[in-house]
Amino acid sequence: SKTVDVRELKTTEAKSTMENGRILVFVRLRPVAKKEREAGSRCCVRIVNKRDVYLTEFANENDYLRLKRLCGRHFTFDASFPDSTTQQEVYSKTTAGLVEAVLQGRNGSVFCYGATGAGKTYTMLGTTDNPGVMVLAIKDLFSKIQQSSFDENHTVHLSYLEVYNETVRDLLSPGRPLVLREDKQGIVAAGLTQYRACSADEVMALLQQGNLNRTTEPTRANETSSRSHAILQVVTIPNFCNNLISSASYKYPLLCKVQVVVKYQVKGASGNVVNRVGKLSLIDLAGSERAIATDQRTLRSLEGANINRSLLALSSCINALVEGKKHIPYRNSKLTQLLKDSLGGACNTVMIANISPSSLSFGETQNTLHWADRAKEIRTKACDVNEETQIPDSETDQAKLLLELQKENR
Ligand code: ADP
Ligand code: MG
Repeated sequence: SKTVDVRELKTTEAKSTMENGRILVFVRLRPVAKKEREAGSRCCVRIVNKRDVYLTEFANENDYLRLKRLCGRHFTFDASFPDSTTQQEVYSKTTAGLVEAVLQGRNGSVFCYGATGAGKTYTMLGTTDNPGVMVLAIKDLFSKIQQSSFDENHTVHLSYLEVYNETVRDLLSPGRPLVLREDKQGIVAAGLTQYRACSADEVMALLQQGNLNRTTEPTRANETSSRSHAILQVVTIPNFCNNLISSASYKYPLLCKVQVVVKYQVKGASGNVVNRVGKLSLIDLAGSERAIATDQRTLRSLEGANINRSLLALSSCINALVEGKKHIPYRNSKLTQLLKDSLGGACNTVMIANISPSSLSFGETQNTLHWADRAKEIRTKACDVNEETQIPDSETDQAKLLLELQKENR
C-alpha cells in the first residue's frame, strides 16, 4: 500500500488521502520520564524522517544506522512524531482534516492506542498548558463554525460514554447501563443523552462533568507503575472556562468516547432543504497491555494470561478487517461494537499509537507498533456526506399541529 508523507501534504491533499478509505496511522513517542531515567532504562526507539520508527533492545541513543542494522524492526507510518512534537502539531497533522470533514457532514473518529503510561490521555486531553487533541478539535470546530457563512445554521450536540466491564455508561447522565442496538445509522447506545452545546466553553463544562463520572479501578498495573496514576490530577483548560477538567480522575475504563454531532441545513439542488449531520468521535482507550496479564512472567506470552475479552476482540476485528474477511466479529464485545463505525464504517479514521522510549517498555512498545502496523491495512467504506432531504412543512400543516397540541394541553 502506498504510504503518504503527511508532512508534504497541503490541507486539500490531506483530505483526499482520507477519502480514499484507509485508516491513517500515526505514532507518537513521548519523552523519557524521570522515573524511567532513574531506573537506568535506555532509549529503545528512534524516529527518523518524521516517519520511520526503529525499535531495538540494544539501542545506542545517537546512532540510528546502527539501530537499523541491529534490530531489523522497522516500521513506517503516515507520520511518526518524535518526543519534541507539540500538541498543536499532533492535532494539525492528525485531526484538523477530520474536523473539516465533519463540518461538511461526514463522520470522523480519532482513537489513541497504547500501553498505560504511553501518553494516550496526554494526547487526547492534555494539560492546562498543553491541551490535547480533544480540546484543540473542539476549539477549532467552533471557530470554523463561527467563521463560516452559515454560522446560525449549525447545532453541536455532545455525548460522552464509557465502557467498563462490558457495561456501557452514559457519563453525562449516569444511571442504568445503556443497551447497544443496531439501527440504520449503525450501532447506537439506546437512551444516550446528547447535550446541545453552543460554545467550546459549554463543551468543556460538559466534558468536565463527564470526567467526574468516570470509573476508577485500582489494578496491579497501577500499583507497580507510576504513583501519579493513583493521584487525582486536576488541570484547568485556559481560554475556555474556569471549569476544572480532571485528566486522570478515573482508572482504566475500557473506552471513553466523546461524540460531537454537528447538524446543519443547506439548500439542495431542487431547492429543498437538506439536513446534514457530521459526527466526530474522540476515543480514549484503556491501556492495551490489559489484553495480556500485567504480571512480568506472562507479559511476553499470551499463554496463561488474564485475557481481556474486549481488547482481544479488538485484535480479532483488526485481523479480520486486514484479511478482508466477510464476517467481522464486532459482536464479541461492547468495545468493538462501539468502534464498528470507526473501524469498518463510512468514516475517516485516525489512529494514534502512543509509545514510551524506554527499554523497560520494550515489549509493550513492540506490541503497540505491531498492531499499528496491522491497522494501516484496514480499509473503511467510502465516507459520503450524511444528508437527508427535509420535506418542508407547509403553513397549514404547522397550524394543524399547533391546534392538536393546544387540544392536548387543555
Ligand atoms: P496513558 O493515558 O497512555 O496511560 P498518560 O497520557 O497519562 O498515559 O501519560 C503518562 C505520563 O506521561 C503523564 O504524566 C503525562 O503527562 C506524560 N506524558 C505523556 N506524553 C507526553 C508528552 N508527549 N510530553 C510530555 N509529557 C507526556
Ligand atoms: Mg490514560
